[in-house]
Amino acid sequence: MRKRWKEGFYRLYGPEVELNNRLFNIIMSGCLLAAMLSNIATALSNGSIWNFVFVVIIGGVIAVLIWIANRYGKTQLCALLAGIVIELFMLPMLYFTGGGIRSGMSSWFLLGLVYCFLLYSGRRFVAMLVLSMVSFSLCHTVAYYHPEYIIPLQTESKIMMDMHLSMLVSAICIGTIIKFQRAIFEEEKRKSDERQVMLEEANKTKDRFLANMSHEIRTPINTIIGLNEMNLREQISQEVEENSVNIQRASGMLLSTINDILDMSKIGAGKMDIISRKYDFGSMLSDLINISWLRAHEKKLEFNLDISPEIPAMLYGDDIRIRQIITNILTNAIKYTQKGSVTLTADCEPLDNNKIRLKISVKDTGIGIRAEDIPHLFDSFQRLDERKNSGIEGTGLGLAISHQLVEMMGGEILVDSSYQRGSVFTVVIEQGIEDKTPIGAVGNVLKANAGNHRKYHQTFEAPEARVLVVDDNEMNRIVAVKLLRGTKVQVETAVSGEECLEKTRNYYYHAIFMDHLMPQMDGLETLSRIRKQENGMCRETPVIALTANVISGADKYYRQKGFDGYLMKPINGALFEDMLLNCLPEELVVERAMDTAGEDAEVHLVNRKAKRQFCLTTESVADLPEKMLEHLDIKCISYYILTKEGRFRDKREISTENLNEYLEKYGKGVTSEPPSVEEYEQFFADALENAEKVIHISLSSNDGRGYERSSKAAKGFSNVYVVDASHVSSGMGALVLTAAEMINREMTIEEILAAIEEAKTKISFHFVIGTTEIMYYRGFLEKYQKVIFDIFGLNPVLSMKEGKLRCTGLFQGSMLHVYKRFVRKCLKGKRNVDKRVLFISYAGCSSKTLEMIKGEVRKYQDFDVIIEEPTSATITSNCGLGTIGIAFLRL
Ligand code: ADP
Repeated sequence: MRKRWKEGFYRLYGPEVELNNRLFNIIMSGCLLAAMLSNIATALSNGSIWNFVFVVIIGGVIAVLIWIANRYGKTQLCALLAGIVIELFMLPMLYFTGGGIRSGMSSWFLLGLVYCFLLYSGRRFVAMLVLSMVSFSLCHTVAYYHPEYIIPLQTESKIMMDMHLSMLVSAICIGTIIKFQRAIFEEEKRKSDERQVMLEEANKTKDRFLANMSHEIRTPINTIIGLNEMNLREQISQEVEENSVNIQRASGMLLSTINDILDMSKIGAGKMDIISRKYDFGSMLSDLINISWLRAHEKKLEFNLDISPEIPAMLYGDDIRIRQIITNILTNAIKYTQKGSVTLTADCEPLDNNKIRLKISVKDTGIGIRAEDIPHLFDSFQRLDERKNSGIEGTGLGLAISHQLVEMMGGEILVDSSYQRGSVFTVVIEQGIEDKTPIGAVGNVLKANAGNHRKYHQTFEAPEARVLVVDDNEMNRIVAVKLLRGTKVQVETAVSGEECLEKTRNYYYHAIFMDHLMPQMDGLETLSRIRKQENGMCRETPVIALTANVISGADKYYRQKGFDGYLMKPINGALFEDMLLNCLPEELVVERAMDTAGEDAEVHLVNRKAKRQFCLTTESVADLPEKMLEHLDIKCISYYILTKEGRFRDKREISTENLNEYLEKYGKGVTSEPPSVEEYEQFFADALENAEKVIHISLSSNDGRGYERSSKAAKGFSNVYVVDASHVSSGMGALVLTAAEMINREMTIEEILAAIEEAKTKISFHFVIGTTEIMYYRGFLEKYQKVIFDIFGLNPVLSMKEGKLRCTGLFQGSMLHVYKRFVRKCLKGKRNVDKRVLFISYAGCSSKTLEMIKGEVRKYQDFDVIIEEPTSATITSNCGLGTIGIAFLRL
């Protein structure tokens, strides 16, 4: 029995119960208790029986609400209902039946208000608070003006007793709630503190894990890369060389992925620091170019340089991070460009005497980025346009890291990309000036130097020099020894700090390369002992830290610890030799010239081309003469014609005459289709080559998927505008010519687009068809229409109205007669006709018929020019032979 009570208690008030539910249960239980006590008080003071019954009912309601809230999880709703019952019914009722102001009711109203504060939030809270206060004030007001409505407590002692008990009970309730809330608060705080400690612990474990993992993974990669590099230096067969190059590439990828993940986790943990120092801008640039030039060269890309000679030679900033950012952007530019060029530009703008705004940008002619993808460019693990990039390796971390780093430096990365044409990434950061001397014509110097690092070149020999490599890992020692083999220096190794000290006591070394993390005695301790070693031979020898640990600011860190330099594992052969060379006395070094013969540095200085503002494009279905398109520089993309004999590009691979022959032979079985989204993309990209913006006029959206596809393709660009022509054939042609006219008027893009929309409504386009067969076959006519037209020998006239084809007339008789009546219907007595030009498009008419039609036209209207053009194969395949279309503009 006791156990069940205990269980019940925990189910209502235990720590497992959600905080709000627990509060509700406690308050409601308090109310229940208060109701019971109030009834005891009523009984003791011989109060009203109604009062007694009423409180019992309310107590019942509260008990039911507690049950519903806990059984069905509807705490919010029950709290609201309880509030309404208590505040609006129970308390006013008790007030009038239990003595009004001359009783303990004020204390209960106070309890009601506290209830509102505790259980509601937001608008509910405001509403219930206002209602409770209004209810309380109304009760007092009514009691004041109509004391007769109040059933009074009969004696002074009952009044005293009621007031007294009500006060005590309310105070206990409020006090209990406050105490409870405090207990809950303390409990939650304790839990949150515990969670915080656990979180910090987990974070530390994660960091430790990442640091260890980095060390553990980088050490074997070091071995792979180092040994592989040795293989590459040997005389090896082509096949082995290819394998080795692949190993080199794959290990490099793995290493950069590990570095990226590590950087990302450091940034996430707020442990990435920007460490500024003085650096040589020219040499940073030189390193960046040398690495990238090689990659670009391998992909047969041009590598262009545009370096402002005004940039100060020595700057102050975090060059390591800047290198990382620019390397990443350059790597991407090369990775995502298949042909063309990559251009590195550096420029600066003076801010004050000691500062410049440095702008480094990388421009490529690669695949570009879809305009809709640009907002996601800097998201972690976000690789864009996976369809196109599927063959390109990457993690989607590089730009996220670069973006964060640039932000940490207080700068920004700007992106300007044109889908299919290429991108420009610009990094803008403030840098301090250490030496104002301008770098001068560094571009030319770098251009001349680029290419020197294409392959490993041994830089010196020093057979007299003695070097000690200290590392607990055997493979690392082997790699280090092999990497230095070409220099002929005498390399010795030690497996531990202790062995190192033994050697340094007895022998002199010109340089020591020391691993950091070693069991028992680590590199730091070994170094400090070497420096203090009694009778030690190497107290002055330069010691270089050799470590797989990547710590931000490593260089500074190791120098502070007394090292003379720092080399990161996997060891880069060239850097290793450079570092050694710096440590050796000049007289021991026999320097070798670098062999650059045969290396044609494909680095160019840039030359810019101006673009025109707009390029107008359309589709082969616009039925405009080729010469006119050429003359007006309007680019045109072809639809496709699908026949039993294959798929042909309209106006390029199939002419209207070819199609006519085919149709005469087979009658039907020809369909057309618009270019694919990818083809539209390429088409727009080509058009953007010489123009800032493209305006594309596409076939009416009601007639095929050209508009849908071209619009989808345009989404990839921020500067391609697709207009639904709402017309076909020469109607569309008329719109294209009108648009061409507007483009030359130096209007803004918005004005041009608005004017094109207006022009659409002014184009009058009608056509009469020669045969119902194809129109029916292509779904433009219903079967019943075809049957009726055929029985009565009717030729329908179709007109374009608001982008839709409507049948606006029927003619009977011979085709010549039909054409005459059609021309008359279109032109006779028409006012507001723009007389400058009339378009006639025709599918398979003889020149004689055409002359006759033109003669008819002249009877009714006097046009300056009549443009006659056979319909494209696409239009012919959709409306059949014998079709004549007439289009003109209304004023
Ligand atoms: P990844 O390792 O995938 O290259 P990044 O963070 O460096 O990761 O780049 C994110 C995505 O941005 C890439 O997957 C690619 O889709 C796009 N991107 C970056 N640079 C270029 C560029 N120069 N040209 C085209 N797309 C690019």
